[in-house]
Amino acid sequence: MSTSRPDDIRLQSDMHYNLNIEHMPDAGGHFGRFGGRFAAETLMRPLKEIEDAFFEAWSDPTFHAERIDLLKNYVGRATPLYHAKRLSRENGGARIYLKREDLNHTGAHKINNTIGQGLLARRMGKKKVLAETGAGQHGVATATVAALFGMQCDIYMGREDVERQMPNVLRMRLLGANVIPVNSGTATLKDAVNEALRNWVASCEDTFYIFGTAAGPHPFPLMVRQFHAVIGQEARAQIIEQAGRLPDVAVACVGGGSNAMGMLHPFRDDPVKLVAVEAAGHGLESGEHAASLAAGKPGILHGNLTYLLEDIEGQIQGTHSISAGLDYPGVGPELADMLETKRLTLDAATDDEALASLQLLTRTEGIIPALESSHALAAGLRIAGSMNQDEIVAINLSGRGDKDMNTVFKYLGWVENTS
Ligand SMILES: *Cc1c(COP(=O)(O)O)cnc(C)c1O
Repeated sequence: MSTSRPDDIRLQSDMHYNLNIEHMPDAGGHFGRFGGRFAAETLMRPLKEIEDAFFEAWSDPTFHAERIDLLKNYVGRATPLYHAKRLSRENGGARIYLKREDLNHTGAHKINNTIGQGLLARRMGKKKVLAETGAGQHGVATATVAALFGMQCDIYMGREDVERQMPNVLRMRLLGANVIPVNSGTATLKDAVNEALRNWVASCEDTFYIFGTAAGPHPFPLMVRQFHAVIGQEARAQIIEQAGRLPDVAVACVGGGSNAMGMLHPFRDDPVKLVAVEAAGHGLESGEHAASLAAGKPGILHGNLTYLLEDIEGQIQGTHSISAGLDYPGVGPELADMLETKRLTLDAATDDEALASLQLLTRTEGIIPALESSHALAAGLRIAGSMNQDEIVAINLSGRGDKDMNTVFKYLGWVENTS
């Protein structure tokens, strides 16, 4: 029991973000044999300009002063690290702590990255930003920052996704963004990225491409990781303050890998087991999943060498997950390298497992997580269940579940399944 007087109780630790760049890729943007910059000749120059601008900005204290001020006063950081006692008791085993990225402005971790890249765009004198989006979460976070900085904003989104994610499409429009439906391929996220890259070639003079995850050509995987590192850096300081030590295990879900790199990377040099959880959809053996690391093989997509889900002809395979945000056929190159060098432990959760843990967290703690985050939760609970009460599992709750309510209600049979 704490004996401190009320005036001794701090609501929040003083956060000191580590601004050193740990574990740099090589000059070509390779993490081990993964990563790199595989892009059309015309994109090499704008990518190099972003790389130079990023390193220049990163070494400038005024860049960080503004970034951290916005993270604090606009986004709402630091997000809490919450000891979920009822959930831990119900689950049995290790103590479970939740990193509450769901409490960020716009409801997920994605804004950490769009604030960073938006500031970089403005610093480079760009008047316009463009981005791809799948479920619409990155599109909303980009449109939000474009509104904040007074920039024009084009969002490329597969026609399929435009129809499936109408509330986010309307939200982006309300924020002043121009949502451009993409009809090519399967009219989903991977096609939206291709189209966004194509259009960026023609407009890169005055336009910055705000990439949404820790993938794509160099320097995006590095840059996105650095902008999200606040997640794990806070969690690390918070667990030491609350529990007096590091967690035994840190867990995050993986779509492209941005929340996972943000949460896990700051623990990379610690004796902490790092677990990345992929979407197993209807089960890994069903073929209907989005588990690129577990079931894919190395190949090139969206400008980098990484693990991909391909069919026998080398075409990108269709993916399935109940959570639109995990439905991506690739994965960030640094995660591929961490897996290959055995610094990462791979896990997976099915649609059913994610839904069950969403319900369990909601009922035991009154927190409704995003379906993506529910995958991290499902695996984290399973792992915690096999550990003892003195041990600690820290799980990144990457977003809140409001956007998923329709999917959840349909799945539970509470509303009619019309699609
Ligand atoms: C987009 C999203 C993800 C997946 O993207 P990553 O880049 O892998 O983090 C996970 N959780 C939420 C809530 C998302 O919106």
